[in-house]
Parts: sequence; C-alpha cells; structure tokens
Amino acid sequence: MNLYDAHQHLHCDALTPHRAAIVRDLAAAGVKGVVVNGTNEEEWPVVAALAANPSAGIGEVGLDRWIIDGLKPDDPRLAGLRVAPLAEQSGVFAAQLALGAELNRAVSIHCVQAWGALHDVLKKTPRPARGLLLHGYAGPAEMIKNFADLGAYFSFNIQLLEPRHAGRLENFRHIPTKRLLVETDAPTKPPPGDRNRFPLPPATDGSPVNHPANIAVAYEVLAELRGVPLELLAPQLEQNFRRLFC
Ligand SMILES: [Zn+2]
Repeated sequence: MNLYDAHQHLHCDALTPHRAAIVRDLAAAGVKGVVVNGTNEEEWPVVAALAANPSAGIGEVGLDRWIIDGLKPDDPRLAGLRVAPLAEQSGVFAAQLALGAELNRAVSIHCVQAWGALHDVLKKTPRPARGLLLHGYAGPAEMIKNFADLGAYFSFNIQLLEPRHAGRLENFRHIPTKRLLVETDAPTKPPPGDRNRFPLPPATDGSPVNHPANIAVAYEVLAELRGVPLELLAPQLEQNFRRLFC
C-alpha cells in the first residue's frame, strides 16, 4: 500500500538526529511521497535541498488569529517574531496565493481561527488551477463546501483525536473523498501514547517529537472513522495527492 504525507517538516531540528532512521522507516511503511513545509526564510535552503525533484509548492502560508488573540505578548513561542495584524497577514497571503496561481503550484495553507478572513482572500484572489490544501482542517463543518468549491483539499491530522477537537474530527466523516488527504505535521502532534508506533525521545526543549512514519497510524484512524477499508481508501488518497502536488 502506498502512503503519502500531505504536510510535515522533515527538515526540523527535532528530527535531524534521527533522519537516517526516519527515512528507512518511511520506506518500510510504504510512504511514497511527503510534502515538506518551510515556515520561514531561514528554512528555505534546507527544504529545497531535501526536495529530490523540482515539484515545489508554496507554503506553508496563511492566516493565524490565535497568535494575535490567543497568546500573551511575552509567550516564548513568539520570541523574535513580530505579530502581524490580520489585515497585513491577508495582504501577504493574497500575494503568495496569486504566485501559486501564476505558477500553478499547490499552496499549503495554515489557518487558525481566521476561517472567514481566509474564505474572503480565497474568493477574491486568483487560485492555482490544481488546487490548494487546508492542512489539518479544523474549520467549521458548514464551510467545507464553500472551501471545496474554491479548490480546497483537506488533510486529516491525528491530533483531531483529542477530545477538545471532537467536533472537528466529525468533519472528516463528511469531506468528499476526492478532496481528502492525510498528514502528520511531524515533528509536532504525535499520536496518543498507545497509538504512537514510532516513539522518539523528546526534543531538547522537552517537547514531544512525532516520527513522520506515524502517517501509517493516521491513515488507519481515518479509514476507521469513515468506515472504509484502508485498502480502498489509500489508492483514492494516492490519486488526490498526485493530482494536487505532482
Ligand atoms: Zn506545519
């Protein structure tokens, strides 16, 4: 069975010491493709070096209201960063989306608590003909069709198993199969203890580290959730991955 991870960060420091083993484990798990996302300019060269072919996409890019409203200004996660107001984020994101449209490259989109604003930008801006990815979709159920009509794919992340995400987990029963993908977002968001098939030691700052081969676990959970055999689901998702990213 061929598996594909629609969103992760293999280049991150937390995974670097384990990279050789990870690449072996990915091959053994049947993983045929992964989308490695840089999140800032410093990461671009290492992400580019990891790409074995020129099928680059754009991302991850997008909108985040949580870093404006949900974090205290002295939160260590914001150290060295400037928090841009949502209007400024929207302007930059529109330019990135338009570039994706011009080059017809897949755009991988991060969105936290800004679904209305995201929809506005998507509606008003040229979009890549091949489509775009709303990674780890945690938006409202009633917006799924609106986003799908604008070319969106939706990737399932195992983090949605957490009880606080129960409503969002339910979305993934209903997303049309043709627009469905699976992701790990490794090195973050490891599966809960008993389902973590590839445990790794914590990072130097103590945060848990998700092994990208846990994509196999995410596939299994999604197949269970939708009540379809994994053998049926995986080839459908393979077509989706290839249509969007290859
Ligand atoms: Zn990510």
